[in-house]
Formats: sequence, C-alpha cells, structure tokens
Amino acid sequence: MRICDAHCDTLYNLVNTPGSANDVTMERLIAGGVALQVMAMYVGPKAPIEETEALFNKMLAAFEGLKAQGWVQAMDPSEAVDGQVKVMLSIEGCEVFERGLHVIQRYRDLGVRMAAITWNHENALATPHCINATDGLKPFGLEAVREMQRLKIAVDISHLNEAGVNDILTKTDVPPMASHSCCRALKDHTRNLTDEQLKAVFRAGGFVALNFYPAFLADGPSTMDTLVDHFDHMLAMGGEGKIGFGSDFDGITSKPEGLDNPADFPALLDVMRRRGYSEQQVKSIAGEAMIDYFARI
Ligand SMILES: [Zn+2]
Repeated sequence: MRICDAHCDTLYNLVNTPGSANDVTMERLIAGGVALQVMAMYVGPKAPIEETEALFNKMLAAFEGLKAQGWVQAMDPSEAVDGQVKVMLSIEGCEVFERGLHVIQRYRDLGVRMAAITWNHENALATPHCINATDGLKPFGLEAVREMQRLKIAVDISHLNEAGVNDILTKTDVPPMASHSCCRALKDHTRNLTDEQLKAVFRAGGFVALNFYPAFLADGPSTMDTLVDHFDHMLAMGGEGKIGFGSDFDGITSKPEGLDNPADFPALLDVMRRRGYSEQQVKSIAGEAMIDYFARI
C-alpha cells in the first residue's frame, strides 16, 4: 500500500524552531508505511520579498540537510514505492513567483511539483479565503497558473478564495488540486471547500487531500471517524478515485484523537475499513488517487 500525504509544514518548523520536536520524522514515516510525504515551503508571515526568498532558501537548505541524512527526494509521485519513504517539495503561498514567471522554472527544477497560489495573505497572484470570496485571480496570477500548468506543477487551491478557484476552473485547462482542505458542508469555515467546488474539482479531474486539523473538521473534538465522515461526503460529491490525505502535520496545533503523527496512518486505514470502505477504496485514498492525479496532469 503506497501511502501518500500531500501536505506537512515540517520544513518551516526546521528553520523557524530548530531543535524542536516535529510530528514528521523518518522513524514515524517508516512506522506508518508512508511512501511519499510532500513537504511544503510555507511562506510564513507577510514580509518583503527578499525575506521570503531568504526563508525559502533556508527551507531548501533544510531539505538538502534531510537528503544528506539519507532522505530520498521524489520528482514525481509515480516514484513512490511501497516499503520506502520518499519526500517531494511543494510551495504554500506563491509570493516567491512575484519576481516573474521565469522563477517558476527554477522551483520546478528543484523538484517543486505543487504550489498553493496563496496562503492567508493577498499576493500578486490572488486573494485568499480569509480576505474575501469575490476577487478573482489577478492578471499575473492567471499567467503564473498557466506557467505552472505548462511545467506540470499542480495548482493547489487550498487557502485560495472562491473566485480564484472558479477562475482556475473556468479559464485554464488543467484540473487543480487541494493539498489540505475539508468539506464546508460538514464544518462551515471559509477555509473549507463548498459542495459546488468539490463537484467542480472532481468533474474536472482534480484531486482533494483532506486536512486533519480538527478546527476544519467539526465543531468540538474530532476522531478518525470525523475524517471518514468528510471522505464519505467527498465520495458523495463525485470524489471516487480523486481524494486522499493532506495531514498538515507540523502545521496544526491539535489533532484528531489517535492521529498524532504519520505513524498513525495504519490506524486511520483500519477505521476506513471498519466503516465499510473496500480495499480498493482504502488503497486509492491512501495514495493511488494522488499518484493518478499527477499522471493526469
Ligand atoms: Zn495551510
């Protein structure tokens, strides 16, 4: 079973709070049977472009440090192999692209295969969910999205506002993904995807990875069953073969009961089986759907 996780913030923690304990460690990835962990370069607090670039360079150095310790980088999810752990780079907040479209190629060459257009700040590309729902992609944002698509960097709509998501769906040809997003029908939060968005993303051939953050899952505490409730809903919206995990480990301050770190993935798979998911569905959600999505784009 190739388990893939589309989002964690471990690189940011490694440079922002060096020496502190992280959720994602090689021991836990091995214990959980994770074949592919996507590691985000997260933009952090609003800062001048030079500071953001310096932060990204530190996260790239931290990633190189992991590789020096034996971690293996994947340049494509198809390189995931059962029984081995690989890591792949992503971007959360495209401020570093503001220097110009040519920068996107540089990050692609470094192995970045997905990029969230915004984090929670407005940037030169678009407006996030927490500012307004109505401002669509900016002209540079549309150009950047098209360049990402040309370079086969998955366009990640997590954190983006509704008009921005709609522009990607209606003005470009490649289906987007959400690396760590939940269902708004089950928990009313602007960070979550509406039923219309879920249906449109799935219809387009996109992919949605579920965030494990309890604040986006339900009112009050969450369990692994709460996660499966969200998978049930995504399946009802047409998500068969197009959903997976986007834990947000090392970026979330609380966790569903029993799901503390990557070592707990097998327990989550067991809850899915108990809830009646077929072995094929479990395998798909665990990782095959994400691998298939990258093959499609
Ligand atoms: Zn995030």
